[in-house]
Amino acid sequence: MAARLIDGKAIAQAVRDEVARDVAEWVAAGRLAPGLATVLVGDDPASAIYVNGKQRACAEVGITGFDHRLAHDAAHAEVAELLRELGEDPRVSGILLQLPTPAQVDGASLTELIAPHKDVDGLTPLSAGLLAKGRPGLRPCTPSGIMELLRRHDVALEGAEAVVVGRSDLVGKPIGALLLAANATVTTCHSRTRELAAVCQRADVLVAAVGVPELVRGDWIAEGAVVIDVGMNRTAAGLVGDVALAAARERARMITPVPGGVGPMTIAMLLRNTLEAARLQAADAAPAAR
Ligand code: NAP
Repeated sequence: MAARLIDGKAIAQAVRDEVARDVAEWVAAGRLAPGLATVLVGDDPASAIYVNGKQRACAEVGITGFDHRLAHDAAHAEVAELLRELGEDPRVSGILLQLPTPAQVDGASLTELIAPHKDVDGLTPLSAGLLAKGRPGLRPCTPSGIMELLRRHDVALEGAEAVVVGRSDLVGKPIGALLLAANATVTTCHSRTRELAAVCQRADVLVAAVGVPELVRGDWIAEGAVVIDVGMNRTAAGLVGDVALAAARERARMITPVPGGVGPMTIAMLLRNTLEAARLQAADAAPAAR
């Protein structure tokens, strides 16, 4: 039987509707609307499309957007100063530095300058450390979107064998930590993993975050597994995932398609993180209860 397709588009819309409702309640209670500042350095067209999409999504749910665009030759220090100012601006709940940045701007070290309580991308060392230690904090958007898809489909994670292919800071490591926190038994694979197919065949839940079109073949998938395909690979045949979808559907129980699976979740979770950041900041600012 063909696996059920997980409809990320519909779930992302449900999350966006919930955020819109919660933002409206937040504002109705007399508070300043949450604000998201995006910082784009240079004129890379793909990055501009991403930033435009994030700003549009903010407007749709009532989050105030602050759209900062710097010239392609902006100095590292100029971007650093902007991040510092945004960190102190009470109208800004979340800050997102769009990566990659031009060569003269060190995006990785700038990410570390983002105020931790405004780190809605969840990529600063502090956020990564809190996640690794299982402490509350802002989580990276794509991995938390994956957890949302699993939760809304009642995928049992406790004691499950979870295999993650990929160990990036953006996806592989954080999704491994989130699955571990949900009491799955997690194996993380990478480019030096031996017998990758055999490791994948153990998985009740298989997450592929590699960036290699259709690396994961149908016969790598255990009967009845849940498969999450994070890959977004532009090929001559169009957008293709890291999993051979048609063959995988013959064996999996549920699978995310590409496009329309994990992809739409990222912006939805960014919006949710921005509201969450505003809540955390309001709680920090409130006088301690006596
Ligand atoms: P990345 O930083 O390039 O990391 C890729 C990982 O895959 C690395 O850990 C690498 O291993 C591993 N890898 C590469 N070739 C492999 C192979 N043949 N066998 C096993 N492991 C292999 O990529 P990323 O940022 O995590 O993104 C992965 C994919 O997800 C990309 O297609 C990206 O476009 C997509 N993505 C989608 C979303 C979304 O849907 N919203 C968000 C982020 C990323 P080493 O560490 O050993 O090099």
